[in-house]
Formats: sequence, structure tokens, C-alpha cells
Amino acid sequence: MSAFVGKYADELIKTAKYIATPGKGILAADESTGTIGKRLASINVENIESNRQALRELLFTVPNALSYLSGVIFFEETLYQKTSDGKPFVHVLLENSVIPGIKVDKGTVDIAGTNSETTTQGFDSLGARCQQYYKAGARFAKWRAVLKIGPTEPSELAIQQNAQGLARYAIICQENGLVPIVEPEVLTDGNHDIKKCAAVTEKVLAAVYKALNDHHVLLEGTLLKPNMVTPGSDSPKVSPEVIAEYTVAALRHTVPPAVPGIVFLSGGQSEEEATLNLNAMNKLDVLKPWTLSFSFGRALQQSTIKKWAGKKENVAAAQKAFLVRCRANSEATLGKYTGGSADAAASESLYVKGYRY
Ligand code: 13P
Repeated sequence: MSAFVGKYADELIKTAKYIATPGKGILAADESTGTIGKRLASINVENIESNRQALRELLFTVPNALSYLSGVIFFEETLYQKTSDGKPFVHVLLENSVIPGIKVDKGTVDIAGTNSETTTQGFDSLGARCQQYYKAGARFAKWRAVLKIGPTEPSELAIQQNAQGLARYAIICQENGLVPIVEPEVLTDGNHDIKKCAAVTEKVLAAVYKALNDHHVLLEGTLLKPNMVTPGSDSPKVSPEVIAEYTVAALRHTVPPAVPGIVFLSGGQSEEEATLNLNAMNKLDVLKPWTLSFSFGRALQQSTIKKWAGKKENVAAAQKAFLVRCRANSEATLGKYTGGSADAAASESLYVKGYRY
């Protein structure tokens, strides 16, 4: 199966490889206006453009934090926003060797005839939008597909729809110069055990890589953003070492070594849990042909947002909290995190049933 080699092939390979630099990871700051509204509501801050800008400026201007990041995913609004003294966020990142990315999906809708399984929308003018985003400085993209575990879920229909959707999205990105982050998230909702999550994750990933190959996607110019393999949200927890063993095994069974990096979502884990699990994976002594890193949303921002609470006088303390999480996750990508950076906010579960991004 030969990959499509368009005019951007070399650039795609270089970008994906850079994002996967060990010691660095991705901040997912691409919450849609609705989703960021929920975060702001939790600290009694109104969901208006100036407050969304203020939160994002706070995150992107933390002294030294960008040295732990290789990419930041923006929502469309954020891609064109500036700091309060007029510098485009894109420039703030580029000056610090952080690559701007963009969420290009338009959320999920139910697949008729299923038990509330979903498919992801956003194909309308996707190629043209990718071209605009590239012009604005973006070099990678994100598209979130969602699968759930149930008595008869995920159905074959949902697996195939989402695998085909991710592959179609990925090749459109590559044709327009953006590295696609391929994100098939198996939700943690349910009372299943870790073995069930492993089996479903492997089945989904196998279907996704079959589809990516069928669509001639250049794997060297992609990144994978999967869930970690864990027990369901209503089941007893297991140690980071067990999660690491199951997760790395599932990935070794399904993800080709041509893929340069795997950047996990946090999926409702607490900040500290997500970091400890990533660290345990990187400590595991088996062959891992890809970098294992992070692309966390909730698990990088939660304690920062709480500390900020929308108040100018709290910005310094909030920025400090963000730096702590960035450094901890950077260490975890190297298997060198020793724990202990967590306060109460960092240990709080961020699980939300049926999470919509
Ligand atoms: P969480 O880390 O909050 O799960 O989300 C990351 C993300 O970008 C999901 O698409």
C-alpha cells in the first residue's frame, strides 16, 4: 500500500517528528466556545470573548512553560487572537519553537439506529479551511472521533464510520500541509474491567490503521491521540504500572512504527493520575518505537483555571500551577517523574459522563 506523497510530504514528516520530541508534549487548548463556557462557569466567569482570550493568554505566556511543549491546539477563534499588548498568539508560540495546531472537527452527532453512538462532523469545506489555517500559521490539526463501551458497543458500524472518517480527515489535512492528529477516543464510561478496554481499544486502533492505509495516508506525517487503557469509570482503579502495561501492549499490537509519536488524551483522569500513568509507560522496559507523550486538555488546565478564578491578582499563582503540570508531564515523557507535584486540585477527578468536547 503506497502512501500519497503530495507537495507537503517532507514538511509533514518534519513537523510530526518535531512534535514528538521526547521531553515535550501538546497543550490541548481547543475547547469549543460551548465547552470552554463550562470551564468558565465552574469559576463563575462569563463566557465572553474577552474572558476566553484572558484565559488563553494566561496559559500561553507562562514564563518557561513553553519549553516543555512542542505544540498547542487552538480553537478557530484562538488561532486569530492576540495578547493584550497586540501580539498574535501564533507568534508567541513560534518565538518559543511551539507549533500551532487547530481543531478542525465540528463535534459529534448520533448515528441513527445505534445506542447513542456517534460520528464526527466537519467535512464541509475541510480542504479550504485547512488551507486558511495553514496560511494563519497552523501546521497540525485535530479531529476527535468517539467510541463507547457497552454491552453491544462499540458496534461494527460505529467503528467503521469513525475509522473511515478519521482517515478521510487525515488525508485532507496532509493534502493541505497539516499533520493530522488521529484521535479515536474510547470513552472511560462504564463498569467494564481493564481487559475489556484493552480489547476494544485494540479493535478500534486496528480498524483505524487499516483505514489510514486504505486512504494512502503518510503515517510518518501523522500522530496518534488515543485513550489510555484503564478500567471503566465505575470500576475499581488499578495502579499506573498496570495501566502502562495494558496500554503499551495495545499500542504495540496495532500502531505501526512509522508513526513518530503517540500523544495521549487525559479523558477525565485527574492531573496527577494522567502524569503518573504516562510516566509508568515511559518507564516500561519493552520496545516502544514511538515517543509516548501528552496532548492533555483537562489534565493540564484544571488546577490553573481553579487558581485563576477569573481574577487578575491570581494570574501569577495560576501560571505557577500550569508550569508545575507542564514540567511534571515533560518528566513523565522521559519516565523521570517522581510524583509529589500534586495539590488537592491536581488530584481531583475530572471525569464527566459522556464527555463532549
Ligand atoms: P482531555 O485531555 O481533556 O481528555 O482532552 C484532550 C482533547 O483534546 C480531547 O480531544
